[in-house]
Amino acid sequence: MNQSEPLILLIEDDSQTRRFLKSSLSNRGWRIIEADCGKTGLALLKSDHPDCVILDLGLPDMDGISVTRRLRQLSDLPVLVLSARSQEQNKIMALDAGADDYLTKPFGSGELQARLQALLRRVSRSIGNFESFETGQLRVDLARRKVFIAENELRITPIEYRLLSILIRHAGLVVTHRQLLTEVWGAEHIHDQHYLRIYMGQLRHKLEINPARPRYLLTEVGVGYRLAADLE
Ligand code: CA
Repeated sequence: MNQSEPLILLIEDDSQTRRFLKSSLSNRGWRIIEADCGKTGLALLKSDHPDCVILDLGLPDMDGISVTRRLRQLSDLPVLVLSARSQEQNKIMALDAGADDYLTKPFGSGELQARLQALLRRVSRSIGNFESFETGQLRVDLARRKVFIAENELRITPIEYRLLSILIRHAGLVVTHRQLLTEVWGAEHIHDQHYLRIYMGQLRHKLEINPARPRYLLTEVGVGYRLAADLE
């Protein structure tokens, strides 16, 4: 096993899901350590120093939100939560408690690998010096706060730019309505989702070829928005 490959801590009580995750991740050379409950997971986090955590929200001993909060108190590691369709609300609470992204069961291995790659990139981005962002035709010069589609500079308002820069910081990952509203307008506006609809609509009109079928600014229904990363 290659020690330089990322070490992933998998906290999941369902052995079938664990088997599936193990086989699709080890195919890529990623290393895995497993826990079948929250307590063991948190112990492994401290003893084995993983690079990333995959956390099932339905665990036998602790609820997923408490595990997420505890993980966040202990580290800044990227956390991907796995939720069943019946756990919609828990998923949003876990994201607001600090999880970075989610996958709804059942999911495919392609989807899983794309999410993990975006997660691990978040880590290298927060360490590295990050001056510009590119995906598809979209290019953002973060040092000069300028936004381009192909070579054309767009006129972007300060609020639009703030929204875009938050999504860039989490490129490829979901950002909840609450996170966006809190960061741009302040905690007293967490229920003003119409602000987001208006400003995301404006941004889409500037960035997207077809705003009704966005390529960059994706809607995660009931949860938030995701900036597509790694587009050709
Ligand atoms: Ca479970």
